[in-house]
Amino acid sequence: MKAFLAEARQAEHYPQHFLVNGVMQPNPETPERIAALKAGALRAGCEMVAPREFGMEAIGAVHTPAYLAFLERAWERWQHIPDAAGAVTPNIHPPHRHAGYPASLVAQAGFHMADASCPIAGGTWQSALWSAWSALSAAEALLGGVQSAYALCRPPGHHAGTDLAGGFCYLNNSAIAARYLQARWPKIAILDVDLHHGNGTQDIFWTDPTVFTASIHCDPRRFYPFFWGYAEEEGEGPGKGFNLNLPLPRGSGDAEFLAALDTALARIEHFAPDALVVALGLDAFEGDPFGGLGVTTGGYGRIGAEIARRLPVPTLLVQEGGYLCPELGDNLTAFLGGSSGSGG
Ligand code: ZN
Repeated sequence: MKAFLAEARQAEHYPQHFLVNGVMQPNPETPERIAALKAGALRAGCEMVAPREFGMEAIGAVHTPAYLAFLERAWERWQHIPDAAGAVTPNIHPPHRHAGYPASLVAQAGFHMADASCPIAGGTWQSALWSAWSALSAAEALLGGVQSAYALCRPPGHHAGTDLAGGFCYLNNSAIAARYLQARWPKIAILDVDLHHGNGTQDIFWTDPTVFTASIHCDPRRFYPFFWGYAEEEGEGPGKGFNLNLPLPRGSGDAEFLAALDTALARIEHFAPDALVVALGLDAFEGDPFGGLGVTTGGYGRIGAEIARRLPVPTLLVQEGGYLCPELGDNLTAFLGGSSGSGG
């Protein structure tokens, strides 16, 4: 399997801190994740491939012009604010999304940043851009005829909405790739197995019946992203019935996760997609620093194998979360091994 990564460019983004319980904490979404995941991909037999530049058209099919202009220039504009912090950080947020759009950078940051875990610093834009281009390059490989491809996307994407960053995410790599694949394959399913609900992806396709979105995640009542990820969220208008949320009680392990996966795969089989995007977070692992669920390394092998067995369509694997722990790379190796072992 080909694995797409712009290693140096995707490592430029390195804000040092994010806000937790009112305290600045070390940011766990570090460039060191890339080395661990790359080692895991190589152990699974992947061939590392450099992505190409795609320009902005495919990214602009998902994100708004105002948001993209904000992301691209925020850091440079932030430098003109005296005594500002080492990352773009809002201190005010609009009460709803239909608010006026201000000229002030700190207010635009409040408009476009959902939470305090998406700091923007030097290199953030380039890394986000190349992360999206890695996803697009992998999607292009699928269109070229390979059965599956892996994009080592860092920073991740599934919390990013059309005009909203959040949860370490800036550009929604899975959504951008899904839209790009639709040029050939009109019906796409996105299956999100990250520990956290894929709220950005859900929001982007909320009224869209051509992209079925499913997410298995830790129950949001006491877990990020808190405001989304509930079972009753099914989409709206023409998209009603095309979103599936399967929240799991905190601490759930392989058995519970695989049961939810069975439900998700049955719904996706019924939808009969032309191609599949897996939003491949590995932070549901029992040893992940976020500590929400208890999936094992062996469990990731079974999850990868089951997806490939049940959905033998062109499949794009897009890296989402999964944080530094000794087994991070092994979990990717297990998933990719299961995936290629069963699905070809
Ligand atoms: Zn996550």
